[in-house]
Amino acid sequence: MVVFVVNCGSSSIKYQLINMEGEIVMAKGLIERIGMEGSLLKHTPAGKDTVTVEADIPDHKVGIQMVIEALTNSEYGVIGSMKGIDAVGHRIVHGGERFTDSVLITSDVLKGIEACSEIAPLHNPPNVLGIRACTELMQDVPQVAVFDTAFHQTIPRVAFLYGLPYESYVKYGLRRYGFHGTSHKYVAQKAAEMMGEHTSDLRIITCHLGNGASITAIKYGKSVDTSMGYTPLEGLIMGTRSGEIDPAIIPFLMEKENMTAQEVDNYLNKQSGILGISGVSSDFRDLEEAANSGDERSQLAIDIFAYKVKKYIGSYVAAMGGVDAIVFTAGLGENSPFMRDKICNGLEYLGTRIDPVLNAVRRKAREISIRRARVKIFVIPTNEELVIAQDTYRICRGITKL
Ligand code: ADP
Repeated sequence: MVVFVVNCGSSSIKYQLINMEGEIVMAKGLIERIGMEGSLLKHTPAGKDTVTVEADIPDHKVGIQMVIEALTNSEYGVIGSMKGIDAVGHRIVHGGERFTDSVLITSDVLKGIEACSEIAPLHNPPNVLGIRACTELMQDVPQVAVFDTAFHQTIPRVAFLYGLPYESYVKYGLRRYGFHGTSHKYVAQKAAEMMGEHTSDLRIITCHLGNGASITAIKYGKSVDTSMGYTPLEGLIMGTRSGEIDPAIIPFLMEKENMTAQEVDNYLNKQSGILGISGVSSDFRDLEEAANSGDERSQLAIDIFAYKVKKYIGSYVAAMGGVDAIVFTAGLGENSPFMRDKICNGLEYLGTRIDPVLNAVRRKAREISIRRARVKIFVIPTNEELVIAQDTYRICRGITKL
């Protein structure tokens, strides 16, 4: 079965075509700047050079059409015709409380995803556009929705409710939902495999540290707490997001700086985090470089980030009554031995320590804790597209032409 994995953002479409026999990526690519000047498609067939096509891409439907044309192109395509696509898997950001697992998209499911737009106004509408575009262009091909939030639907009420009047939960669904679910689930499963065990026997803390960053406590295979909340703004400080703050700061800013709700939202989402603290960059590579050249605020931003991660790890050990493995993934988690070392420095009391030699190895799923550590530490590259393809395959196996 060949699965077309689609991830629609407000002005972008990321895609992969994966042959599930051997889970081989046949092609991948990206459309940028939909509806803007300078829109383009970057398409990379496996083992070949990237092709860039500049074109006017006014909306997601035209974008998906261009991707299909690239996939079937006689020169750089990888399938003969659209018939070569057996199923489509969509990354959907918000599934609310309704979607606890990936599902086959029907008109009723699509309505449910649209209904979640109220709690994810930035993310779900482009996801819906992607589904509609594929439905129009590939009528009979089954489509599956894979939700960022679904894995976290096992979080108990005690961990997902905020200290607000209960009616705010009933009326508006104000609660912790959590994000990056496919990533947390994937790396926890990989870690269990590498330990020769099942997730159902382990307590794992997964640290997804990228531009957006979140940490999850996975007890016996189930997410029991996670750092992102009602939106992906809560929790750790991130590239440009504040993470958790005292909510009283919001009315204070609105009054003192004469800010509108929209402006505060922008302040917390785009101008804060390590960018806001350092005044240098939202990219940890730039911060490490600046800190090495003596920039104090860059050093401070790095220190605050590592401190927060460490604090979350400690709190999730408490929440689960122990921990068997800690996993690092995503851009920073996978690529920064320095940050991993900084975070884990001081966790010896848990029965773990990083092996500096193993920590320095690049780009490979591996254990990086010292031999005989009671708590294992892993670096595992995440692969959200593969999880989407696997779920799509699992759900469509019985119903496609194969
Ligand atoms: P996104 O949330 O956008 O998917 P990624 O998972 O790609 O983010 O992570 C991007 C972040 O990872 C960058 O902002 C950068 O700070 C960090 N990063 C990537 N490579 C390195 C590296 N070699 N050293 C330190 N940080 C890195």
